Amino acid sequence: MRTATQLYIVPTPIGNLEDITLRALRILKEVDFILAEDTRTSGNLLKHYGIEKKLVPHHLFNEHKTIENIVDRLKDGATCALVSDAGTPAISDPGYLLVRSCIQAGLQVECLPGPTAFVPALVNSGIAADHFIFEGFLPHKKGRHTRLTSLASEERTMIFYESPHRLVKALKQFAEYFGEDRHACVSRELTKIYEENVRGSLAELIAWFERKNVKGEIVIVIAGKS
Ligand code: SAM
Repeated sequence: MRTATQLYIVPTPIGNLEDITLRALRILKEVDFILAEDTRTSGNLLKHYGIEKKLVPHHLFNEHKTIENIVDRLKDGATCALVSDAGTPAISDPGYLLVRSCIQAGLQVECLPGPTAFVPALVNSGIAADHFIFEGFLPHKKGRHTRLTSLASEERTMIFYESPHRLVKALKQFAEYFGEDRHACVSRELTKIYEENVRGSLAELIAWFERKNVKGEIVIVIAGKS
């Protein structure tokens, strides 16, 4: 039998507010406190679902300092949920350090299944989804060239997160390292009103997005080397 969970990792919508599970809503209501990357963003989300709960800031800039205190509270019997601004915590978001610390302290941790941007992007792309690697955000400067060089021989489908203003530059670099004929898909604003999934060779995607003023949130899926 499972012992009672003390830390819940709770995924939240990546755009469409209907994309939250019944269990996520129940857990958010039941826990003693909620750790939030941005208390204002998560406060709005909770308000939308009619949940009143204490929100405690937990982000990249304070997580090293606050984890010990959180672990102590959980050891004393409290329960908490971790949410990020959107999607699943610990996926290109804070969460890993807290999960690791709780496991090391012998606490029960449970991640609820739920929204994350890379899964719909991968499936929408129509590119092989049987084997893939998630790269998240590439390093901006140091390490970028090394990473791209090693990915040039990658045979699995690759998934990247990117900001809109760096999209064209990133696509051009991918074309340089992987070849401009490589098949890819750019998913923009997933689950939102202006969602689009643009599929084609890297050369075609560059031509398409160069003509636009790209806005919104972006996932890039690229076929592996055949
Ligand atoms: N934890 C999130 C997850 O589970 O996907 C990721 C958080 S990361 C800080 C934010 C990045 O996720 C964005 O820059 C974008 O690359 C991707 N993303 C989040 N929401 C998205 C959406 N609705 N459409 C496309 N990409 C999205």
